[in-house]
Amino acid sequence: MIKLIIRGGTHAPEALAVRCATGRARPARGTAPTAPGRRLASVKVTVLVGGVGGARFLLGVKAALGLPAVGPGEPGESPHEVTAVVNVGDDVWMHGLRITPDLDSCLYTLGGGIDPERGWGRAGETWTVREELAAYDAEPSWFSLGDRDIATHLVRTRMLRAGYRLSDVVTALCHRWQPGVTLLPGTDDRVETHVVVDDPATGPQARKAIHFQEWWVRHRAELPAHRFVPVGADEAGVLPAAREAIAEADAVLLAPSNPVVSIGALLEIPGLREALAATPARVVGLSPIVGGRPVRGMADACLTAIGVETTAEAVGRHYGARSDGGLLDGWLVHTGDRADVPGVDVRTVPLLMSDVPATAAMARAALDLCGVPVG
Ligand code: GDP
Ligand code: CA
Repeated sequence: MIKLIIRGGTHAPEALAVRCATGRARPARGTAPTAPGRRLASVKVTVLVGGVGGARFLLGVKAALGLPAVGPGEPGESPHEVTAVVNVGDDVWMHGLRITPDLDSCLYTLGGGIDPERGWGRAGETWTVREELAAYDAEPSWFSLGDRDIATHLVRTRMLRAGYRLSDVVTALCHRWQPGVTLLPGTDDRVETHVVVDDPATGPQARKAIHFQEWWVRHRAELPAHRFVPVGADEAGVLPAAREAIAEADAVLLAPSNPVVSIGALLEIPGLREALAATPARVVGLSPIVGGRPVRGMADACLTAIGVETTAEAVGRHYGARSDGGLLDGWLVHTGDRADVPGVDVRTVPLLMSDVPATAAMARAALDLCGVPVG
C-alpha cells in the first residue's frame, strides 16, 4: 500500500513522503546462451508504448512471457522482466492538476482498473466533479476528468509540487496498481506535444500552436495540422533508467502505438533515439496501421500532417532500418498487408489485439523476430 504522509511546518516547505511496501525482488538474470534464436532462461523485454494501444500490447507481452496479463503475478512465477518506456508528450495541466494520460492508461490497464468499454480511464467512474466544474463554467470544459481518476491526479500533482520526479510518482502509483512491469516515463522533464494549426479565429493567414490534447480531444484531430512540436525537448533528457532498460534488453519492441504522437513523441526526447541505435538487442516494431487505416483512433491525421501515407509500409519506411540510421531491425504487418522496407526483416502475422491470447501471439512473433523465442 502507498502511504502518503504530509509533513508540514511553518518554516519548512511541504514535504510529501511516500512509503511503499517493498516490491518483490527482481529475479536474477539467467546465464543461458545469448545467440539469436536460442531460448533464454530469463528474458528482458523493453517496450516503447503510448496509451491505450500500448497498454493493450503490454498485456500480450506479459502473457507471452508466462506472466498474468493483469497484476503482478506470484513471486518467482516467471523469470522474465518487462519494462515499458511510456510516452509523456500527451501530459498536460488541467484545472491545476498534472495529467499523464498514457502512463495512466498503462497503469489502469495492467493493474485491472481500466474501463473496458472506453479503453481509458477508471472502471466504475463517476463524474460529479465534472458536473460541478461545468456549473462554474470552468474551462477547459472539453476535457473530462472522472472522480476516481482525479484522485490519481491529486496524488501526482501533490508529489510533483513537493519536488518528486515524475518517475518517483509513477513508482509510487505502481505500488497501488501492481502492473507487473516496470513502468518508466520516457523522461522526467516536461516535453509536451503541441500542434501547429491555422488559427481557428482567423483562418489560414495566422497559425498558432495548441496543446496536443486540445487538438485531439477538443478538435477531434479535424483541424489540419501543419506540424508537431515537442515543447521542452531542447532542455530534456531521456530517463537514465529508460536508457539502461534499452541498453540491457534482450529484445526491444515498438508497440503498435501511434507512430507520430506516441512513438514519435518518445523519439523526440534527446538520448532515446541514440539508445535505440546503440542497443545490442534487435528492435522490432508492430504496425498500428491495418488495411490502410489505424485500427483505432486518428493516427491517419497525424501521419498526413508529417507527410507519411497511412499504410503499414509507409510507417515502416518512416521508422527506417537501424542499419541505415533508422529504428528497426524487424517490422510486423497484418496478414494481407504488404510492406517492403529496405534493410528491415518484414513478417506478416495477425495483428489484431482482439483478446489477450491474440495479443500474446503478436508479442511472441515480435520476440521471435528479435531472435528471442519464448513460450
Ligand atoms: P493512445 O496514446 O491512447 O492513442 O494509444 P497508442 O498510441 O498506444 O495506440 C494507438 C494506436 O493503437 C492507434 O494508432 C491504433 O491503430 C493502434 N491499435 C489499436 N488497437 C490495435 C490493434 O488491435 N492492432 C494494431 N495493430 N494496432 C492497434
Ligand atoms: Ca496518447
